[in-house]
Amino acid sequence: MLIVKKFGGSSVANKTRIFRVAERCIEDYRAGHDVVVVLSAMGDTTDDLIAMAHSIHANPKKRELDMLLTTGEQVSVSLMAMAMQSLDVPAVSLNAFQVQMHSTERYGNARFKRIDTDRITHELDSRKIVIVTGFQGVNKYDDLTTLGRGGSDTTAVALAAALHADRCEIFTDVDGVYTADPRIVKNAMKLDEVTYDEMLELASLGAKVLHNRSVEMAKKYGVELVVRSSLNRSEGTVIKEKVKMEKMLITGVAADTNTARISVIGVDDQPGTAFRIFNTLAKNNINVDIILQSVGRDGTKDISFTVSEDDLDDAIHILEDHKEALTIKEITSNRDVAKISVVGAGMMSNPGVAAKMFETLYNARININMIATSEIRITVLVDKKDVEKALNAVHDGFAGQLE
Ligand code: ADP
Ligand code: ASP
Ligand code: MG
Repeated sequence: MLIVKKFGGSSVANKTRIFRVAERCIEDYRAGHDVVVVLSAMGDTTDDLIAMAHSIHANPKKRELDMLLTTGEQVSVSLMAMAMQSLDVPAVSLNAFQVQMHSTERYGNARFKRIDTDRITHELDSRKIVIVTGFQGVNKYDDLTTLGRGGSDTTAVALAAALHADRCEIFTDVDGVYTADPRIVKNAMKLDEVTYDEMLELASLGAKVLHNRSVEMAKKYGVELVVRSSLNRSEGTVIKEKVKMEKMLITGVAADTNTARISVIGVDDQPGTAFRIFNTLAKNNINVDIILQSVGRDGTKDISFTVSEDDLDDAIHILEDHKEALTIKEITSNRDVAKISVVGAGMMSNPGVAAKMFETLYNARININMIATSEIRITVLVDKKDVEKALNAVHDGFAGQLE
């Protein structure tokens, strides 16, 4: 059996934990399996490196930032190989360049295009445990890229797909996927199984337990994922196409504070205005989420939308640059907002979910700024200061209808 095991930063934060992970991998190896291990940078290394970069330059080039950030993962894989070797188990550490994990050009937010398996297969054939850096790729200029924060999960799934692994296990610092972030919502419950579609919504809407691209890729290539604790042996959560259990109304609730609202005021109330605005943003790789357009008056209208907070400055610059062509009179923005979302395939056939969500927020006296819905999610924009209260209120409001 070929097993891919991924361990996040907190799971390799210090020497004791590195050895604990090494031993867990060695168990599978000694049972005769081929073992590929994907690691994140130790503890808060990535945050520390970002802070270090900003202490040198206010706006560092993304290429150099990636060059810096990718060192974090290289530290953990080399130390892990040494730990295994000290336990007399043959192991080799490899970075994205050595494996040849090809990505798109884009620094800071690259996507995998193609992964060579020759080197890994060769190392496995010589009965080594192969330890690969998460979070990084190589672009067509032979530069290192990163996949976006939390991207090591995506490395693990990409390798599992490319190597046709029999198992892909994501080890982290909680026991699995919960109905809400268990660090914020005390009553959150662990889910035994979640579908790819629901997990993709949860991950995209702020449940950072899995990188959203990892779920997208797992669905595309049919990689069944298990999310489980690196600190104990509990069963964890399985993510797959179909789940056995009876469908509950709601699968989970997520919060995302990495969001900001932009309003463009006084644009022409003419066909094509929205197209031009959002097309300009799309061409510059800015993803837009919730969109709200006011009713036109006096030939003009206002359009508000949310972007990731990381993209806010870029988005405003781009809109300022095209202000006249886009007929924008004024641009306003607000960083102090957060998204709260409920997710569940069960809501497709149940019209009461939105009303229930609004009622729980009303009872908690939390104001809703914007609303967006899809077949399996409802998202509201609230003030950032209200996020924990809102998450708990909405979660508790659906308690009993949660799995
Ligand atoms: P790792 O370093 O292992 O990748 P992360 O910090 O990226 O770990 O992800 C795990 C964290 O995700 C948990 O500590 C938890 O606070 C958070 N989280 C958010 N939403 C959920 C959820 N629905 N279920 C479980 N954990 C969640
Ligand atoms: N070390 C990277 C980060 O902190 C990647 C990861 O942890 O998955 O975002
Ligand atoms: Mg993570």
